Amino acid sequence: MVHEIAPHRLINHYDPDKTARPEDRAVLFRRHEGYSKMLARPQGELFPRVGEIGAVLPGAVWRYLFTVDEEDYYMLEEPDLTGDTRAVAEEMASEPARPGTEAAADHVQGIEEGLPGFAWQRMSQLRARADAPREQIYAAFTAMHLFTWYRASRYCGSCGTRMVHHSTERAMKCPACGNTVYPRLMPAVIVGVVNGDKLLVTKYSNRPVRHYALVAGFTEIGETLEETVAREVMEETGLRVCDITYYKSQPWGIAQDILAGFYCRVDGSDRIRRDDGELAVAKWAAPEEIELQEDDLSLTNEMMKRFKEGFDPFL
Ligand SMILES: [Zn+2]
Repeated sequence: MVHEIAPHRLINHYDPDKTARPEDRAVLFRRHEGYSKMLARPQGELFPRVGEIGAVLPGAVWRYLFTVDEEDYYMLEEPDLTGDTRAVAEEMASEPARPGTEAAADHVQGIEEGLPGFAWQRMSQLRARADAPREQIYAAFTAMHLFTWYRASRYCGSCGTRMVHHSTERAMKCPACGNTVYPRLMPAVIVGVVNGDKLLVTKYSNRPVRHYALVAGFTEIGETLEETVAREVMEETGLRVCDITYYKSQPWGIAQDILAGFYCRVDGSDRIRRDDGELAVAKWAAPEEIELQEDDLSLTNEMMKRFKEGFDPFL
């Protein structure tokens, strides 16, 4: 799975007093064409160094994210590259230009001219980079989660004031009303429903994926993870379940999730009543029928793979 990077280690203890050095890793994201894209080297290692970015972007301000092994990772905080240039252009047709938009476009141009070969890559491109060190793929997933949260936390949701960084914790604080916002994770479950020697596999509607997935869904406010499991399986397939058994968890930063994997058994009738709006396929699959995903990064894939190999989650 993407977070299994041993013997490497990602340490995310927040330290507001750290200051970037030229040899540290530089994390740059921009919103472009509706996607968050990260600046990556074309081959091998993904991340540039702070010194490389500083050479083409004088005055860059850095925010400490985390450490992988001995290397510190910093996100470019200013100048602001987060504007989606297309969306901003549409806005500008009817509204005055947002301050900083033109400057951001100039900075992007400066980076592209100063660092030829580097490219802005989407997460789907980065996760497919078999040439990149595994720990850097996971660093990119985690950086993406932090970037998304920082970007969404620039203004206070209660009163609209520009937020400032908390002095001691990873949090954003409103100087006007005191609202404090901590990093946001969305808990979700992945469910392997077992029926004798078969596993319930699914394919989502409206998603261009060929491989199978498992029932999955977000935890509602006021619900336990086990209740989420039972509810999601009922909603998507009409099945009752029992023997809900925790397997493993996985941080999945590209969707801001913390995933909890559970296996369970079908309870009573095994007749599937599929939710057409959610799923294109929901069926009982024997081990040899289960098609795995193209990479081994996800908890869903590991849970299908373990079952396929004869793993008994209820022992
Ligand atoms: Zn406020």
